[in-house]
Amino acid sequence: MKSNFSYKDIYVEDGKKVLEMNILPEKYCNFDCVFCPIGRSKNKIDEPVSFEDYSSSISELDSIIEKTQPDLVFINSKGEALVNDKVSQIIDFIKSKGLKVRLLSNGYILSKDEYINIANKCDEVIGEIKAITEEDFKKLQRPIEGYTLENYIENMVSFNKQYNGKFIFEITIIKKYNDDEESIQKIKDVIKRINPDKIEIVRIDDERMKKTLWVDDEKFEEIKRELMNI
Ligand code: SF4
Repeated sequence: MKSNFSYKDIYVEDGKKVLEMNILPEKYCNFDCVFCPIGRSKNKIDEPVSFEDYSSSISELDSIIEKTQPDLVFINSKGEALVNDKVSQIIDFIKSKGLKVRLLSNGYILSKDEYINIANKCDEVIGEIKAITEEDFKKLQRPIEGYTLENYIENMVSFNKQYNGKFIFEITIIKKYNDDEESIQKIKDVIKRINPDKIEIVRIDDERMKKTLWVDDEKFEEIKRELMNI
């Protein structure tokens, strides 16, 4: 039985059992970030893609849910999970088991009608921001031609205006790119515009890039305090 999905070991978060899963057979993303922990994007797309072995993948998910009895399923994929053309059915299947769903998206395509409807089914949606200038967005995140940082932010703003679930906004602090006072002010403005339910502040987690893009603990804590305070 072949499956396109893969799973992390179940873990407990705030007293809830979380099953974290990937629903893409390989990396499919609309960005090609230089610090992507999954590597380069051969498949740089933002349109739905069809994959084989859906039935066997769902059967496997069914038995894993049965075995692990999670409270929440976190869809965190090798790229942009929304481009799997079965993501809607996958969410419906998980919800039919009475479980909550959290979906990680980089957030760019959350303004497209077909994806809004899918994301709206989820109890929690995570959107992200990393670069904070147009130039750095193109240089560091190498998105599909024509994408802009302003549209990226606006797409999350418009999504969250109509979303009734919990919108979690993840901000990655990158040394020399968005750790200065001007960038922090810009990030604060973005937070105010998006108005998320929760903010998560993280650092680059790609081992190859840690040497150059990792913000030290002292600075990171200082930035965290400033951003968490707004
Ligand atoms: S958005 Fe995420 S998955 Fe896509 S290239 Fe960037 S780091 Fe990788």
